[in-house]
Amino acid sequence: MKIIMLGAPGAGKGTQAKMIADAYNIPHISTGDIFRANIKNNTELGIKAKKYMDQGLLVPDELTCDLVVDRICQEDCADGYVLDGFPRTIPQAVCLDKALEGMSDKIDYAVNVKVPDENIVRRMSGRRACAKCGATYHIVHIPPKKEGICDRCSSELILRDDDKPETVLKRLSVYHAQTQPLIEYYDEKGVLVEVDGTQEMNDVFAEITGALK
Ligand code: ADP
Ligand code: ADP
Ligand code: ZN
Repeated sequence: MKIIMLGAPGAGKGTQAKMIADAYNIPHISTGDIFRANIKNNTELGIKAKKYMDQGLLVPDELTCDLVVDRICQEDCADGYVLDGFPRTIPQAVCLDKALEGMSDKIDYAVNVKVPDENIVRRMSGRRACAKCGATYHIVHIPPKKEGICDRCSSELILRDDDKPETVLKRLSVYHAQTQPLIEYYDEKGVLVEVDGTQEMNDVFAEITGALK
C-alpha cells in the first residue's frame, strides 16, 4: 500500500504515519526527518535546507524530489510506504506521479488529516521530539512516561527550532498557499481520504484504517 499524508504542520501526519507504518509493516518516509538528519550531520543538503526550514519556508523542489524518488526505489519500498511531508507542492506531486508512472505504479491513498488553524499553534508549542529516534510527544496530549525523556530510547526530548509560534504562523501560511492545493489534486485522482484530526490519536487512526482497503 502506497500512502501520502496531507495536512497542516502539526496536524498529526507524523504521528499517524508512524502508526500506519507499524500496522502495515511498511517504511515511514518523512522528508522533514531526512532534512533534520542531514542538518545534524552537517551535509551539503542539510546546510542548504536549514536556511529555508529556519524561516518556515519550503526547501526548494529541486532539492526534494530526487531525494524522495531515490528513496521509494529502494528495496524495502517494494510493498509500499507512507510518505509524510511529501509532496508539499503541485510540482512535487507531478514529479512523484511521473516517477511512479515510469515504474507502472501509483499512489493508493492520500490521507488528509484535518485540523483547524486555531488548534495548530497549541499543538506545535507542546510538541517535543526525540533528537535521537525521532519519536514525537505532546506535553499535554501525548506526554512521555518521564518528563523530557523519550519512552523508546531514553534520550532527551527537545522543542524543534521551527516550532516557535512566529515560525509556526509562517509555516501555516506557506501550507495554505503551496500545499493545500494538493487536496484537490488527489481528490481529482480519486484517492483522497479525509479524516478529522482533532480527535484523540487512536480515534484518528481508526478512522484512517477504516478507509484503507
Ligand atoms: P511538520 O511535520 O511540522 O509538517 P516537517 O518535519 O514535515 O514538519 O517539515 C519541517 C520542514 O522541513 C518544513 O517546514 C520545510 O521547511 C521542510 N520540508 C519538509 N518536507 C518538505 C517538502 N516535501 N518540500 C519542501 N520542504 C520540506
Ligand atoms: P505533523 O507531522 O503533522 O507536523 P505531529 O504528528 O508531529 O504532526 O503532531 C504535532 C503535535 O501534536 C505533536 O506534539 C503530537 O504529539 C501531537 N498530536 C498528534 N496527534 C494528536 C492528536 N490526535 N491529539 C492531540 N495531539 C496530537
Ligand atoms: Zn527516542
